[in-house]
Amino acid sequence: MKALQYRTIGSPPEVVTVPDPEPGPGQVLLKVTAAGVCHSDIAVMEWPAEGFPYELPLTLGHEGVGTVAALGDGVTGLAEGDAVAVYGPWGCGTCAKCAEGKENYCLRADELGIHPPGLGRPGSMAEYLLIDDPRHLVPLDGLDPVAAVPLTDAGLTPYHAIKKSLPKLGPGSTAVVIGTGGLGHVAIQLLRALTSARVIALDVSEDKLRLAREVGAHETVLSDAGAVEAVREITGPIGAQAVFDFVGVAPTVKTAAGVAGVEADVTLVGIGGAPLPVGFGLTPFEVSVSAPYWGSRSELMEVLALARAGAVSVHTETYSLDDAPLAYQRLHDGKVNGRAVILPNG
Ligand code: NAD
Ligand code: ZN
Ligand code: ZN
Repeated sequence: MKALQYRTIGSPPEVVTVPDPEPGPGQVLLKVTAAGVCHSDIAVMEWPAEGFPYELPLTLGHEGVGTVAALGDGVTGLAEGDAVAVYGPWGCGTCAKCAEGKENYCLRADELGIHPPGLGRPGSMAEYLLIDDPRHLVPLDGLDPVAAVPLTDAGLTPYHAIKKSLPKLGPGSTAVVIGTGGLGHVAIQLLRALTSARVIALDVSEDKLRLAREVGAHETVLSDAGAVEAVREITGPIGAQAVFDFVGVAPTVKTAAGVAGVEADVTLVGIGGAPLPVGFGLTPFEVSVSAPYWGSRSELMEVLALARAGAVSVHTETYSLDDAPLAYQRLHDGKVNGRAVILPNG
């Protein structure tokens, strides 16, 4: 089968032919209908050789939906042809966090060498994808594969972040979204669907801000040196009650802290890795800062339910598997508005 692989540190991903996978006992083979392109893959492909955590070559793609193509021995509850979404952050399935459905925070994944598809084991940018356990699959139940696939990460990750801050986002509150790309433009819709907060969106280009307004942002602000002042002009002295930074670099983290009000949540979702100094006098009183990872299995079910209810709709552009390197190039260059989706069998 064809697969998009990251093969050489520092080089773009390549379309290659690899052996067709076959499901072993307990496994499920999916025929991939759609695979989402996440900015985290670009970060991975920019990491240096020293300390690179995954084996190469690596088939990319940690957002996937497909139809069941074959069942390994002993698998029940699924049938060939079932349309499913893949829950990506696999865990051991039995530790205290996995028992809560929070496999994204599995206590034993590192020790047991368990990786998400596309981030350490073969991912969804291939004609077929091997799933280790049927519990990682959630029925699509009528959702369109292209519209649904980004929900497995670009939907689930902001959903998890926003859900934690819901108590702070009552009437009269303000939520700030920094970076309105794949994750951010879904975050705006989730905030509008789940809260009565005023949503202020920040990005570096007018194109991105236009999409932000289209999907429900009340106000948009250019993310530059004057951003804190511009946001504070809108909120007044109370500031924002929740700030979601989908970039995480030094200037955005500074903006995030600068627009936060007392008792606000500042959530650093972008993996830019810039530190945010927290301390008395450094941040407004009682600000909570967190850096979450992905979301739980039940939260994925909730996000898909929201999509079925018409509350979230991802803006997508589609590519064949052969054109997948182009999709990564365009995302790298800031040219994708919404989410790029690869159709490996399209
Ligand atoms: P994306 O490229 O689609 O979106 C990023 C957006 O940020 C773009 O619209 C870009 O114009 C904007 N941006 C860049 N610099 C900016 C700045 N200085 N100020 C304001 N906006 C700026 O990327 P994505 O796929 O949505 O991913 C967003 C981030 O989230 C990435 O860092 C990604 O690695 C990370 N991520 C984290 C998790 C997690 O679990 N924590 C999960 C998925 C993705
Ligand atoms: Zn991702
Ligand atoms: Zn576990």
